[in-house]
Amino acid sequence: MLFRGTFVQCPSLGELEIFDDWLIAVDDSGYITNFEPAQSSDLLRRNEPINLPLGTFLLPPFNDLHLHAPQFLYQGNGLDLPLLEWLNQYAFKAEEKLDRDPGLARTVYRRLGQRLIKAGTGAVCLFGTLKEETNIILAEEMQSAGIRAFVGKVSMDISSRPSYIEASSSVAIDAAREFGEKLDRTCSVPSSTISQSRPQLVHPVITPRFVPTCSDELLHGLGALSEEKGWRVQSHMAESSDQVEWVKKERGDDDIHIFEKHNLLTPRTIQAHCTYLSPSSASLASQRSSQDPFMLLHHLGTAIAHCPLSNIYFSASRAFCLREALEAQVKVGLGTDIAGGYSLDIMSAMRTAVAVSRVREGERDRERMALQNIDTSSNGKSLAIDWKESLFLATLGGARALGVESGVFKIGAPFDAQQIRLFNSSTRVGAGALDFFEMEIEAGRNQEKYHKQTCITKEMIERWWCIGDERNREAMWVQGIEILGSSP
Ligand SMILES: [Zn+2]
Repeated sequence: MLFRGTFVQCPSLGELEIFDDWLIAVDDSGYITNFEPAQSSDLLRRNEPINLPLGTFLLPPFNDLHLHAPQFLYQGNGLDLPLLEWLNQYAFKAEEKLDRDPGLARTVYRRLGQRLIKAGTGAVCLFGTLKEETNIILAEEMQSAGIRAFVGKVSMDISSRPSYIEASSSVAIDAAREFGEKLDRTCSVPSSTISQSRPQLVHPVITPRFVPTCSDELLHGLGALSEEKGWRVQSHMAESSDQVEWVKKERGDDDIHIFEKHNLLTPRTIQAHCTYLSPSSASLASQRSSQDPFMLLHHLGTAIAHCPLSNIYFSASRAFCLREALEAQVKVGLGTDIAGGYSLDIMSAMRTAVAVSRVREGERDRERMALQNIDTSSNGKSLAIDWKESLFLATLGGARALGVESGVFKIGAPFDAQQIRLFNSSTRVGAGALDFFEMEIEAGRNQEKYHKQTCITKEMIERWWCIGDERNREAMWVQGIEILGSSP
């Protein structure tokens, strides 16, 4: 396949590249073989390109680093409770319900896959439930949706709900191993097909729910299993005040030290939230390593799933120290945290991340004025991030956190892309919620100037970032395969 048109990407934090009239060639295995300007390319002599319509561009898809698949069942309900109460009232019940009803699980997970594609999510890291069968259904549905997915069978040998718990740490460790091996058998790509060089898109991820539901024996066994198999790890770390206090009281330590002790902070790990980690608060880490917790995570290669929307609900008194984590070069991406966050759309996570960071910067300004206090934890940078930085987190930042090669267009990377329409070139009207009045007026007056103005600009992309939605998304590819198209 050869695509000709406009390509947009964020190759680094805060940087936005627009390639106007470029080519991307994709081989049969779904990898990019060429990425170059159309004008100077030989490719057009030998190949007929797929011309991307005027007014559209290709962007790497979004990566959602934290989503509870079974909680999709009650998305948008019950967010008035504190975390530990909410888990008992809603989360555990819903998870148990799907574990009892495989038909319902398949319905919910199939719709989840469809919704993720519509939202432009090409890779997702999922929490499942306790039962193997239900999680295999989740893996199958993600595979048939065609997106990259890391599927986690939840491990927990402590629970406030007697019917939703694993019998012992050894039972839970064996179950995690059996699930991962079964998933690999179920989702491996048949070697006899033409697609033998295509990689497996769905993988297991070791998923201790969080410290309060996992004994030390279980955490230790899962750490060893991850090392043995090379499987990724996900959990929640330092999320809410009730959770942090519970761990301190019951286990006499902080999440970060407990996870580190059990070899669960690895380059393959994604920890969600981390709102209660901050340069000033994690004194134990500082004392031990002379580094703050973000430096420790950077050193260990562990990534953070920043879930700004659910943090507002469950960690309202503490915002995640995003700028400080980025300055410490921790790998950070975004998570929707369904259903602790009510929106499945990473665009919502980007906007909320920017908004929360601006509030943090405003608060720091007020404190500085009141106390003449100079805080150096962000190296003097604004705590606020801008839209381009959030777009990096949603694309390449998330891909790096997941350890996948997508997130940027380059030779050798898999061709993962979403096609965004900004305007209709024949009617000259903006697509979806977008309007471009100056272009519309110019089109009626001066055709030549109109043509020049149809180049996609940074300002147009910024407008889409602010008010765009699903209506702007026309197509999506993962590993070179189209999984969302304009034709049904
Ligand atoms: Zn979560």
